Amino acid sequence: MVTLVAAATEGLNLWLVASVPVAVIAAAALVGERAQARRVRTLVAAGRRLAIVEALLANIPDPVIMVDRRAIVREANAAARTLLPALKIGHPLSFALRVPTVLDGIEAALKGGERISVEYAERVPTERVFEVLIGPLAPREDGERPPGGEAVVLFFRDLTSARRLETMRVDFVANVSHELRTPLASLLGFVETLQGPARDDAAARERFLGIMRDQALRMKRLIDDLLQLSRIELRAHVQPQSPVDLVLIAREMIETLAARAQAAGMRVDFEAPSEPVVVPGDRDELLRVVENLVENAIKYGEGGDRIEVRIACEGEGRARLQVRDFGAGIAADHIPRLTERFYRVDAGKSRAKGGTGLGLAIVKHIVARHRGRLAIESTPGEGALFTVELPTIAPREREPLSR
Ligand code: ADP
Repeated sequence: MVTLVAAATEGLNLWLVASVPVAVIAAAALVGERAQARRVRTLVAAGRRLAIVEALLANIPDPVIMVDRRAIVREANAAARTLLPALKIGHPLSFALRVPTVLDGIEAALKGGERISVEYAERVPTERVFEVLIGPLAPREDGERPPGGEAVVLFFRDLTSARRLETMRVDFVANVSHELRTPLASLLGFVETLQGPARDDAAARERFLGIMRDQALRMKRLIDDLLQLSRIELRAHVQPQSPVDLVLIAREMIETLAARAQAAGMRVDFEAPSEPVVVPGDRDELLRVVENLVENAIKYGEGGDRIEVRIACEGEGRARLQVRDFGAGIAADHIPRLTERFYRVDAGKSRAKGGTGLGLAIVKHIVARHRGRLAIESTPGEGALFTVELPTIAPREREPLSR
């Protein structure tokens, strides 16, 4: 500008002299406008990114909270607000989460500049365990501090189901070992007796061998049931699709078990439609369902003189298999737990009748794999009713029956 004015005074015409500052101002305005436009573009881009970050946060199913260095809440996603209903932006985190390990963790993360992890457990309303990852917000790549000053992000991971699975696995191994140890100890005891004091006692040998056979059979049943359970679990997500006639398999299993029912002083009454009731299924697994339910009715239905097995079509596309006995029944507080592995109302009675404690767990898994439902009802003193509901195949859709 200074040079231009100097040039004008050196004889250039006045118009030029007058127009130069105008051009400079215009140019400057243009540059200013461009800068302004750049700033606006940057702001729009930042706004867009913020919206993306917000959408991202809202869609993260785990709770995420951002707090400043005084542990005041700056941001929180929907999952965080569900977990901590008292959480409010602008309020201290401690109002909503009174957990010293987490609050101390925020301080430690700020001081150390590194992400740390702490655990905390909730008892109310339900027992839950969380891992909280507390990370200081890193400075931007250009070295600038994050907007709003130093901040910390808390990410909550729900460990409840992982812990529950872990406990279940430990309990399961303990249960299996316990179930196998008892018959094994008894077998070893008899072997030693036969090798020692009863070596020449033919009558004792006969009796002991009988007991040993029963114990070995008990172990075999347990292992067979365990293998069956794990096979079903392996294929839990694949729904079996072969068309199976429920009426046919129920009739077949009832015929197989009729002698046992008779020996227990019971008869089995069977009621079913005259035409096939076809479900998409696995024949062997559905046979196991009928077998376990009717066997249980024989084992625990004593006192009653009959067992009722009923098959019916329930409305559109549902079949129903029911097994009812007239024995002692089951107290209400046991019912929700009967399908747990190794859960028995009376362990001694179950073992004495050859039970493994896995029958109903197997039934539950098979029914779930067939996308069905299992319901257990009982009035103590009047017996128990087990109902299995399964989806059916309409006659025109189905392939030939698998037998
Ligand atoms: P178990 O091998 O012990 O029979 P199940 O899983 O088949 O194992 O059954 C679990 C428990 O449920 C049994 O030990 C018994 O206490 C109870 N139960 C099952 N069926 C009946 C029934 N029909 N009546 C009464 N109790 C039953």
